[in-house]
Amino acid sequence: MIRYVLAFVVSLSAIFGSYPRAKAAESAFKVAGLPMACTDFRGRSVVSLQVSQLGDVGRAWVVNTVPYILLDPELMRPLPKTLQVFFYLHECAHHVLGHWYNPTGSSENDADCWAIKQGRERAILRRQDVVNFEPWLAKSGGSAFGHLPGPLRLKQMLACFDGAVETAQQH
Ligand SMILES: [Zn+2]
Repeated sequence: MIRYVLAFVVSLSAIFGSYPRAKAAESAFKVAGLPMACTDFRGRSVVSLQVSQLGDVGRAWVVNTVPYILLDPELMRPLPKTLQVFFYLHECAHHVLGHWYNPTGSSENDADCWAIKQGRERAILRRQDVVNFEPWLAKSGGSAFGHLPGPLRLKQMLACFDGAVETAQQH
């Protein structure tokens, strides 16, 4: 009888066991091995996905009011772990600061600043980690969508780390 009940329990968990596991895997999105979560300015959970051939390391996106962070796994992989986390936080910042609905001329700088401060507050980023971004950011020459050229961008990020620059909104 005990054997029979056990077999029944085992088959039940075989049927239903996969669902909670899939759910748990979904909620624990990881960047460079660290669990990451993001909530937008409306208090909605941001869905994070890995998308190949994205055309950029990361993007903040909204589809039918659902906020997304898209990250290109191939472009992320060669980067230092701290820079991978920074890029995730940068995309999260666009959602936290509501840039999808209300973009400003300083959206990119504000997202950088928010990401740096978050990284510092969560003890993920040390000042030296940000300094070490230099060769990676130097490769980027600024862009039409508002990123400063690498050296200037790094200077501004360090100023944010040091608390000298206030972001447009504090959350
Ligand atoms: Zn951005």
